[in-house]
Amino acid sequence: MESRLISVIVPCYNEEAALPLFLDALRKTSAELYDEFSCRTELLFVDDGSRDGTLSVLRRAAKTERNVRYLSFSRNFGKEAAMYAGLQNAKGDYVVIMDADLQHPPGMLREMFAVLQSGEYDCAAARRVSRTGEPPLRSFFSRRFYRVMNRISDTEIVEGACDFRMMTRRMVEAVLSLKEYNRFSKGIFSWVGFRTKWLPFENQERVAGETKWSFWGLLLYAAQGIVGFSTAPLVLVAILGIFLCVCSLLMALYIVVKTLLFGDPVGGWPSMACMVTFLGGMELFCMGILGEYLAKTYLEVKRRPIYVLSETDEDAKKSENF
Ligand code: UDP
Ligand code: MG
Repeated sequence: MESRLISVIVPCYNEEAALPLFLDALRKTSAELYDEFSCRTELLFVDDGSRDGTLSVLRRAAKTERNVRYLSFSRNFGKEAAMYAGLQNAKGDYVVIMDADLQHPPGMLREMFAVLQSGEYDCAAARRVSRTGEPPLRSFFSRRFYRVMNRISDTEIVEGACDFRMMTRRMVEAVLSLKEYNRFSKGIFSWVGFRTKWLPFENQERVAGETKWSFWGLLLYAAQGIVGFSTAPLVLVAILGIFLCVCSLLMALYIVVKTLLFGDPVGGWPSMACMVTFLGGMELFCMGILGEYLAKTYLEVKRRPIYVLSETDEDAKKSENF
């Protein structure tokens, strides 16, 4: 029987410092996987338009190690695009997605493979059970996000779920069949279904380099998740509209009665000014929410590619043979 292949997809953006450590760690893990389960491992790095020496580290690794492949983007398209490109190009029977900074312990791959071997699950995914080392404000918003998301969307997202997971080919094909431009993988993995086993792990510190996520970036990413997997904000806007209409009717009634009983002395303009500003603000806010959905639709209908490649390991090999 031909031995099975595990593809490990690694999105990299400015990971020059972390990559040598990552490669070392994965070499060891690959050997362990081969010894224990006699399965081969390929490493598929996706260079997401890095500005440092990431690409040259990858070129060198692909030249010297047979199981290393890489794709390089023409610019930075984001981790979501990098994961998609990796999934499209992975050849393995099992596919893993893993960060380059060793925050995802490579030792867990054996555990994940054992879970999928049992045949009961199509996905073994890591779930962070602690948030040590993370700024408290970020943890707070993160928790709120999972709360809100699970309340307003049919797609359930497990708290602390990360992209670090091993999937069967079946599940990978399902994920690839969702070709949307605005990708939110946490939602997509959950949307495609399949049985997932959650494996808890403790938060690890990055080995080198620094995180690419700013607080603002994460907030926008969370908003993308909500817009991508729930239309509840639109319903909320409609309810708010109805509520304000009812309020204004009641107010009109009050004014009519007051005028009939006490006459119509001039006055009340400050409250009027407040009301006009309040309603104006509300309208703009609601239009903003509508606009957000419209903008996403606009980007989807353009059908732009999710990423653009500038180089792959195969190109490099071809040019060498010339
Ligand atoms: N990453 C990427 N493109 C980006 C940002 C990040 O491919 O635009 C990669 C990055 O190189 C790393 C992974 O995504 O391998 C996770 O990024 P990071 O460690 O910065 O996120 P954090 O762990 O802090 O959430
Ligand atoms: Mg990280």
